[in-house]
Amino acid sequence: QVTGTLAKESPISPSYDWFQTDSLVTIVIYTKQKDINLDSVIVDHQCDTFRAETIIKDYSYLVHIGLSHEIQEDFSVRVVENVGKIEIVLKKKESTSWECLGRPLENHNSLILKKDKGLYYRKCQLISKENVTHDTKFFCLMLPRSTHLQVPIGQHVYLKLTITGTEIVKPYTPVSDSLLSEFKDPVLPNNKYIYFLTKIYPAGLFTPQLDRLQIGDFVSVSNPEGNFKISQFQELEDLFLLAAGTGFTPMVKVLNYALNNIPSLRKAKLMFFNKTEDDIIWRSQLEKLAYKDKRFDVEFVLSAPTSEWNGKTGYISSGLLSEFLKRSSDKSKVLICICGPMPFTEQGIRLLHDLNFSKDEIHSFTG
Ligand code: FAD
Ligand code: NAD
Repeated sequence: QVTGTLAKESPISPSYDWFQTDSLVTIVIYTKQKDINLDSVIVDHQCDTFRAETIIKDYSYLVHIGLSHEIQEDFSVRVVENVGKIEIVLKKKESTSWECLGRPLENHNSLILKKDKGLYYRKCQLISKENVTHDTKFFCLMLPRSTHLQVPIGQHVYLKLTITGTEIVKPYTPVSDSLLSEFKDPVLPNNKYIYFLTKIYPAGLFTPQLDRLQIGDFVSVSNPEGNFKISQFQELEDLFLLAAGTGFTPMVKVLNYALNNIPSLRKAKLMFFNKTEDDIIWRSQLEKLAYKDKRFDVEFVLSAPTSEWNGKTGYISSGLLSEFLKRSSDKSKVLICICGPMPFTEQGIRLLHDLNFSKDEIHSFTG
């Protein structure tokens, strides 16, 4: 029989319960919090092991059980947002009555600070791989049917491969499948695919191995991490994105979400720093989006242009930023997101402070 109490004193006290019909077993998690959605819970089951990790504020609440009976591979997850209740409906393999749910596994029914929890991985299959630029590729991975996982906007996951007997892990930020397709709500259920834009470094440790994977091969994907909060979009009027190289990846979902879900948004501008024109990821999509949506503008800045380039040049600088970061009105609510190589991000943050933008107006994506 699964029993147990929460080990730690904390401001929140989630709990769980279960009930059954002839064909179904429903596990209910009561978070007792309001801001819970389908991004908040990650569910995996493998053989008889069932694992549901719920993110509640700065904590992670785990239900981890060795199930007493077999279940089918697929299941459904439902969230009743106004009461913070999560229902996971499992399908029994045989319609017998279960006397108990199962036995508690490691850390079952425990609440751990998010920063103290380890990473949990599941194997995802490579579905497609397409060239984007001369050194950047678009990868599509498929989650197993026995996993429910949605990567929140602004968060990254870790990919893991075993390379000559050693496990290598690197962080990557999932993107939407495009900037232009009809907007797909990121909290749609049954979101089985995760997309990545990844630069392959020929002398790198991880990316050449990733690039060597064949369609149908597997790579392990962790639970999401990161500290971007969707509340940063509240009442937002001006969104400025400063991206360098693959630092573009977190901007993709941020931009899609802001343009489609924030009614107060007046302007979204991307300043995209690259070495050469050939390095610009999704250039034509960005230009099409700017044409289609008058609120969006993109400016490319090249640090190693050819002589034909007549756009902006150089590294991130005070001159470039002060011209670019024009508010749509004196007191407009602004968010500036910045991501790229560390020296780029650090220099950018310094310049933004010099231009009198406050900490709350700046979000930097880092590891
Ligand atoms: P590495 O082995 O790390 O090498 C990278 C480059 O540095 C190579 O050119 C290599 O030759 C050179 N190098 C390595 N060691 C040295 C050294 N000692 N001296 C000089 N040069 C050296 N990347 C993406 O493409 N897409 C993403 O969406 C993405 N998201 C990220 C999210 C986060 C939160 C973070 C922190 C990083 C993200 N990255 C992303 C970067 C990614 O995690 C890897 O750092 C990147 O893919 C390189 O990994 P690698 O093992 O192939 O290369
Ligand atoms: P890159 O070497 O092609 O450089 C792109 C641009 O960055 C350059 O054109 C230049 O404008 C700027 N830049 C580079 N070095 C600079 C410096 N020393 N000072 C100021 N500006 C500089 O970039 P890349 O190979 O695509 O690397 C992208 C970086 O972004 C990686 O370090 C990766 O780890 C990071 N990244 C981080 C996250 C995250 O933290 N969430 C996500 C994606 C990528």
